[in-house]
Amino acid sequence: MPPRFPPRPLLACLAALLLLLASAAPAWAEFSLPPLPYAVDALEPVIDATTMTLHHDRHHGAYVANLNAQIQANPALARLSLDALQGQISRFPEVVRNNGGGHWNHSQFWAAMAPAGQGGAPSEPLLESITAGFGSLEAMQSQFNQAAAARFGSGWAWLIQKPDGSLAITSTANQDNPLMDLPGNARGIPLLGLDVWEHAYYLRYQNRRPDYIAAWWSLVNWNEVNRRYAAPS
Ligand code: MN
Repeated sequence: MPPRFPPRPLLACLAALLLLLASAAPAWAEFSLPPLPYAVDALEPVIDATTMTLHHDRHHGAYVANLNAQIQANPALARLSLDALQGQISRFPEVVRNNGGGHWNHSQFWAAMAPAGQGGAPSEPLLESITAGFGSLEAMQSQFNQAAAARFGSGWAWLIQKPDGSLAITSTANQDNPLMDLPGNARGIPLLGLDVWEHAYYLRYQNRRPDYIAAWWSLVNWNEVNRRYAAPS
């Protein structure tokens, strides 16, 4: 009997390859919760382990799950990176804005913190820019603290780099952020963002948001802020 072509082993190989390709989900198919870059108790006592666990696993986890639940109704989401989504958020319904913003904001938040004493210091170029914009590092922090304390209800305070390269302090409501293409939004590259939702601090600080804000500066990961400042320019 003449040999069949293609031979069976080759067909088996092709079938296995197709199965492998089909089972390997493309990286853009779903958004995923990034692991914390430190242990849940690494930022104690400023941020307690219970708050950290709930905040990361439940709150941030829910934003990711809720965002993924919107992919079917908004197929364009599957072709966008989380960064790219922020700049086109006005195309999408509010549920995508809230959860897509929540995912981006919290991802930057974890990375912008480090155990006390391990976050380094502002780089020379960043410090020069801060001094030019605010007069001093302390003056920038004071303005940031005011924006964080004055945000009514839930939201974020930001140090941003504006399109002209200069720095500014802003604040956004809910899970909006400075990357979003929203009317009236003060846009720029977020260098540092602080979560002032009550879920971020209530267990330890209750109503004393200013105490949380003041203590949080000891956790700022300046190495990451320096990297963000160097990246866009
Ligand atoms: Mn939060």
